[in-house]
Amino acid sequence: MSDSSAERIKCLIIGSGPAGYTAAIYAARANMAPVLYTGKEPGGQLTITNDVENYPGYPDGIMGPQMMEDFKNQALRFGTDIRYEMIEKVDFTGPVHKIWSETGHEIHADAVIISTGASARWLGLESEQRLMSKGVSACAVCDGFFFRGQEVAIVGAGDTAAEEATYLAKLCKKVHLLVRRDEMRASKIMQERVFKTPNLEVHWNTVTEEILGTDEVEGVRIANTVTGEKEILNVTGFFVAIGHKPNTDLFDGWINMDDNKYIKTVSGRTFTNIEGVFASGDAQDHIYRQAVTAAGSGCMAALDAERYLSEKGII
Ligand code: NDP
Repeated sequence: MSDSSAERIKCLIIGSGPAGYTAAIYAARANMAPVLYTGKEPGGQLTITNDVENYPGYPDGIMGPQMMEDFKNQALRFGTDIRYEMIEKVDFTGPVHKIWSETGHEIHADAVIISTGASARWLGLESEQRLMSKGVSACAVCDGFFFRGQEVAIVGAGDTAAEEATYLAKLCKKVHLLVRRDEMRASKIMQERVFKTPNLEVHWNTVTEEILGTDEVEGVRIANTVTGEKEILNVTGFFVAIGHKPNTDLFDGWINMDDNKYIKTVSGRTFTNIEGVFASGDAQDHIYRQAVTAAGSGCMAALDAERYLSEKGII
């Protein structure tokens, strides 16, 4: 169903991480009058991160939330219309793309840039769901503060887990890092930081069986996959850092995706299978997943969209 009073725009950007805001900066400067919907986590994953030390241009590093504030202000400076809402539905049947926000507002856009990013993965334990925000968290930087001086566990073996484990070790009495294999996927430099942190213990070949407690975390039962030995760690906080899932459910049935639901784009470009719909950032990148690569692909999406609109005579 379509509404004749729908808002007509040239370019809609969905998502407000480095990809979305960079797309907005380029689109606004190219006279595309972009409208950007932030989604439910304005600023994206970087708002739940700590120091960003690898984004070029910040020789002393920068806090993730501050960096996203800077991105947003740069997008605003060139006239991006930023709206703090979710997009709930899309219809990519015709040449003009129809999109509905969570308040039912209907938008008709010539070009759409998807920059919806990715979200934290969970282990899938019943106890994890039950104790969510009652001692279970997927963001050490957001919630570590509540566990100052206490004993906590964190599961994962990538850069995120390594980074968050060392972050927690600065606040907590003791940190247990639960690694399911006999090696970590994290970069060597991050692993070294883990190994030389005295109050951080790595448990190899270890899986989480259950998080204990009714109204708050009182411990965690772990098992060694080689010896079969079980152990209870008396932790009061349990952090999950096992990767992310692309936020692409909204585009199911419209946009081609891979088995893990990352959007498929034409190699080296941002084109999706739908004309006039472009994808950028972590929603389409399962390899690099960096702020700088997301920003780069946001720029590419805006340039691809600009060429598309210009070829159609829209701008
Ligand atoms: P990754 O996908 O790199 O790692 C996920 C980790 O979680 C893997 O080690 C995996 O184990 C483990 N895991 C997955 N499922 C389970 C499970 N059910 N039980 C136990 N462990 C599980 O995700 P990250 O979030 O760590 O990193 C994502 C990307 O972001 C990477 O490219 C990373 O390099 C980058 N990054 C860079 C940072 C920086 O440079 N400052 C900081 C943070 C992230 P297994 O290895 O056995 O598969």
